[in-house]
Amino acid sequence: MRLILMGPPGAGKGTQARFVADHFGVPAISTGDIFRANVSQGTPLGIEAKRYMDAGEYVPDEVTNHMVRNRIDEADAAPGFLLDGYPRTLAQVTELDGMIEFTGHRLDAVVVLTVDSEELVQRLLQRAVTDGRADDTEDVIRRRQEVYLEQTAPLIEVYRERGILVEVDGMGEVDDVTARIFAALDEIPQS
Ligand code: ADP
Repeated sequence: MRLILMGPPGAGKGTQARFVADHFGVPAISTGDIFRANVSQGTPLGIEAKRYMDAGEYVPDEVTNHMVRNRIDEADAAPGFLLDGYPRTLAQVTELDGMIEFTGHRLDAVVVLTVDSEELVQRLLQRAVTDGRADDTEDVIRRRQEVYLEQTAPLIEVYRERGILVEVDGMGEVDDVTARIFAALDEIPQS
């Protein structure tokens, strides 16, 4: 199973990614988590990425693509994977297409979580209190929403045209959202 989980910052991608990946027995690959791990270890990749992350901007495509390619090449991702936070730009879509085509597989579905914009900001402000993420300040949160609308929301139409888009209501309780995702994915044929 090769899946993408999409949605604006605060939509609950990270939370749902773990449940969905476990359900299908594939690794959840979160670009945000990989970047944060590199930041906390002070690697060259982390030092480069931090400048962008702290401002709410996207890390340059070449950096992100290279990182994802290496991660997908690892043995645990051979049977499939769930991507959380990638692709976020059209250039990343093209790059991912190449990576998957190279392995002779296909992308099975793109799940997009939809959540009201005010609810998103509230959730992220709440996360700022509980998790203390450096990029969860109000200004940076608003910038991340803008960047999402400009650069990532257009990807929804790309995948809709391919006929692999699955839209799921991301409002309400975590368990209910998980159940909606499973119900929607049960409809699609698995590769
Ligand atoms: P959220 O979706 O809550 O904003 P993430 O944890 O997914 O947060 O990502 C945090 C930050 O990591 C992003 O704001 C961005 O700077 C960087 N990042 C993550 N994924 C990508 C990507 N695919 N392309 C570019 N930058 C990314």
